Amino acid sequence: MPKVKLPGILKKKRWLLGLSAAVALIAAATIPVFAQADVNTTSKPAFQMPFHCGQTWQAATFTGHSPQLAVDWQSYGGHQIDGTPVAAAAAGKVIHAGTMSGTGYGNLVIVDHGGGWTTFYAHLKNMSVHVGSKVGQGGAIGHVGSTGHVSGPHLHFEERYNNHVEKVVVGGKQVPYYGHTPFKSKNTCGGSSGNPYTASDACGSGYKTVDSQALGKAGRVYLMYNSGNGYNCVATIKNTSIGKSSAASAFLEPKNGKRSTNSGSFKYYAGPVKKSAKKTCVKWGGSVGSSNYTSGFEHCG
Ligand SMILES: [Zn+2]
Repeated sequence: MPKVKLPGILKKKRWLLGLSAAVALIAAATIPVFAQADVNTTSKPAFQMPFHCGQTWQAATFTGHSPQLAVDWQSYGGHQIDGTPVAAAAAGKVIHAGTMSGTGYGNLVIVDHGGGWTTFYAHLKNMSVHVGSKVGQGGAIGHVGSTGHVSGPHLHFEERYNNHVEKVVVGGKQVPYYGHTPFKSKNTCGGSSGNPYTASDACGSGYKTVDSQALGKAGRVYLMYNSGNGYNCVATIKNTSIGKSSAASAFLEPKNGKRSTNSGSFKYYAGPVKKSAKKTCVKWGGSVGSSNYTSGFEHCG
């Protein structure tokens, strides 16, 4: 830790900072760490805290942390954290699960969220995923532990863009640098499908959701629209039997046009079904198993 002059008010907390740093210290010496860069925030995934909905944790940031902009999620109010489930900050694909030689990360999971973004979960007691695993937002990563260079259990967490470590933003709120700040998790408070694919993944960039309908608990069908080309897109995202082939469908029918249907046995979703429907009413819907939905002609804009 570099020697720094602390103002009086901070001095009292110095031992505390020192303690957190010691508890938290990880040595990522051989991992390339770059200075903070300006980030294309439009591509940043909507990261949530890496814990289940409703939990409060202390976000610790401090000088001397390696890397500097990482967050150590520590116990808030003395609750026992060893063995607490760690949840994916956003949907993605696991690209590392294990120790990393030359570092103090201990058991480390890295999730690739696409668009250059990755998240790091370190010092895990154990891991629930392996390289190649797909995780949904809130999906199981492993459990909080104290593997690697630590003196107590906590979760070391990083958000990286093109491997540059960035300031951590969760639930739309940036963690303060530097301090110890309580944060309450909103990770998949609306209920998680556990499906690593979203309707945006299925329909592709440029499409925004205009409507959606739950198919019981089995899934949800989405109607999206691309104002750039005047196309609608329908995709049905499964909430059950994720990763296993099962019956699902999606359809789209512009008024005075032909209905297109994508129906079959799918692991994650049905669709996308795309049709030009600028200023045209559409009928849309889909199914998962025996749960289905069919709209009337609507969204005529
Ligand atoms: Zn740390």
